[in-house]
Amino acid sequence: MSDDTKKTPNRRRFIKLSVMGIALAPMTNLLFNQNAHAFRARSVSSVAVKIPRLPENDRQAMALGYKEDAALVDTDKYKVADGANCRNCQLYSGSDEDQWGPCAIFSYRIHPLLNQNFVVNAKGWCRSWAMKAG
Ligand code: SF4
Repeated sequence: MSDDTKKTPNRRRFIKLSVMGIALAPMTNLLFNQNAHAFRARSVSSVAVKIPRLPENDRQAMALGYKEDAALVDTDKYKVADGANCRNCQLYSGSDEDQWGPCAIFSYRIHPLLNQNFVVNAKGWCRSWAMKAG
């Protein structure tokens, strides 16, 4: 057998695989894009049901000593009036039933992933607390 005849099957297989690769490339690309799209859709829907909680480690929250639970406020650092929490604060506008609600101090800020205004915990506290009137 000559060298040419030995190479021919390999060359044919190479050409066949190349053609298949070229043909499959757009399909795999489409598949990956669909998976990426599905992943993004899942991420967005799982984020959408979440609450845009103000993180305690937010710079402004830290500056005001905000805690999601008033019982965990550093009382060596801050004087907390008895029973004071976000729910009975003048600046809180959440409903009586909700665990989280807007605070006038933080509500102008937007949660970067949820694209909604930050909310604070009704049981929380920060040093801007002021007794709700009435
Ligand atoms: Fe809570 Fe009032 Fe402080 Fe806002 S200002 S975080 S409602 S205590």
